[in-house]
Amino acid sequence: MNTKYDIIIIGSGAGGGTLAYKLAPSGKSILILERGNYIPKEKENWDPKEVFTNGRYRTTEKWYDKNDQPFSPYTHYAVGGNTKMYGAALFRLRENDFKETKHFGGLSPAWPISYDELEPFYTEAERLYSAHGERGIDPTEPKTKSGYPFPPLKHEPSMQELYDSIRSLGYRPFPLPIGVRLGENGKEGSSPVRLSNFDGFPDPTEAKADAQVVSLKEALRAPNVSLITGAHVDRLLTDKSGKRVSVVEVTRHGEKISFEGDIVVLAAGAVNSAAILLRSNGRSNPNGLANSSGLVGRNYMLHQNGCIINFSKKPNTSQFQKSFSLSDFYSQANDSEYPLGTIQLMGKNDPDTVLDLAKDYFPGKSFEELSNHSIDFWITSEDLPDFNNQVTLRKDGSIQTIYTVNNREAYNRLKKKLFEILDKLAERDPLLRDAVRVGYDLGVSGVSHQMGTLKFGKDPKFSVLDLNCKAHDLDNLYAVDASFFVSAGAYNPSLTIMANALRVGKHLLGRLK
Ligand SMILES: Cc1cc2nc3c(=O)[nH]c(=O)nc-3n(C[C@H](O)[C@H](O)[C@H](O)COP(=O)(O)OP(=O)(O)OC[C@H]3O[C@@H](n4cnc5c(N)ncnc54)[C@H](O)[C@@H]3O)c2cc1C
Repeated sequence: MNTKYDIIIIGSGAGGGTLAYKLAPSGKSILILERGNYIPKEKENWDPKEVFTNGRYRTTEKWYDKNDQPFSPYTHYAVGGNTKMYGAALFRLRENDFKETKHFGGLSPAWPISYDELEPFYTEAERLYSAHGERGIDPTEPKTKSGYPFPPLKHEPSMQELYDSIRSLGYRPFPLPIGVRLGENGKEGSSPVRLSNFDGFPDPTEAKADAQVVSLKEALRAPNVSLITGAHVDRLLTDKSGKRVSVVEVTRHGEKISFEGDIVVLAAGAVNSAAILLRSNGRSNPNGLANSSGLVGRNYMLHQNGCIINFSKKPNTSQFQKSFSLSDFYSQANDSEYPLGTIQLMGKNDPDTVLDLAKDYFPGKSFEELSNHSIDFWITSEDLPDFNNQVTLRKDGSIQTIYTVNNREAYNRLKKKLFEILDKLAERDPLLRDAVRVGYDLGVSGVSHQMGTLKFGKDPKFSVLDLNCKAHDLDNLYAVDASFFVSAGAYNPSLTIMANALRVGKHLLGRLK
């Protein structure tokens, strides 16, 4: 087995997969080390019981919370990373997300780059990931000269009716940008694609634009790119200068293997990338590698995410209801001077979750009856970077996430805003009256939007990575996953991770010339 490469990428998700795609044409030898395996195409891919209740594709690893209690993180170790399961909602952050912004809970700090600097890479990422959407409807939309590569998905009739009703109240919902390959570019298959099992499921049709089918598959066609699965990166070792990563230590099927890369890129996800650096401590760096700032693992963010299901007499015949979003309260609201967040439609919750949430209100009703009369909303508010919210390692090497939610006022007000809209709709439509609303808020195990553990910045004292996402302390170590985020915004993070990976990729192509 070859163990020496020009570039080693650790992790094959939104960041790592996209970077591999960008670097493949360089002709440099590139190795992707991925701890997971390919998700097999099998009938269980679309079985909600297997996917959600039994967690067939989730890790069985235990992490520990701030009280040292074990929990099961909602995360997936697989080729393509968490994008194999994601809902492919591909949002740009807004211009203000890059600036210092006041929130109910305090300050959301400015990023060291502006939206304008990331804009061309957002456009590139939207093209790469076949984003379907429509510009010019959402007033918070950031400026761009490029349209979406594909038109928005058509709302199903129930969702079209809801969309129109919400618009008629004066709100400004807009089609949710979705990364999906429907064969419009002549490249993908032309058979009809069923999108109902999309959000939260792996997609055996490969219509969902995830990092494996879009980026890795393409990158791996190049003879200079290879992938080793089942390869858990344990530690990074440096040469005598302490300024260069010289060895990437891996455990694969119980065997230890060492790889060498001229350039090493962390893309293991915000939690695991921090954990790898913390595990890479030694006599000269007892607090971990690249950690002269003491910030590795700090400023851990998760978003405040939650779901509301509205049960009413009104039928909802949608198979794919995830088709619009509402950002009217993103920066403020009529009764709130600070940002609240976003409201989106989401894929239908799985039967066990719905039956459990509804059991006290609708005893004896089947999932189908409930599902045909419910709409599922996803709400997201920003959580602010806090030095004390931290990924760390326990004595036995396991991961601990010390996290206390903040900026809760924004989230509570956002929920109220959704209820206000639903109440107004019910005033007009008798079938929506006397609705039952249930839901859940994601806690520390809801790590799907993990971010911020290796924040980037100009000053090595106050950031781990520099503006090119190279570790300040090392000459050849980069990170391109969600760890570089300085603040979280309130949009799903993948498109920003992909865009940044393309930006860093451009820098690396220049460096490698
Ligand atoms: C159910 C679900 C729905 C989602 N929906 C959306 C959505 O609609 N829109 C959106 O923007 N985001 C969504 N997300 C979030 C999105 O998937 C993540 O933000 C994104 O995948 C993070 O990218 P990443 O590169 O940071 O990490 P990941 O994509 O998680 O990739 C990290 C990779 O590193 C590997 N790895 C970890 N540790 C090691 C190690 N030690 N050695 C080797 N490899 C390692 C992992 O196996 C994984 O493949 C969703 C997530 C989930 C779970």
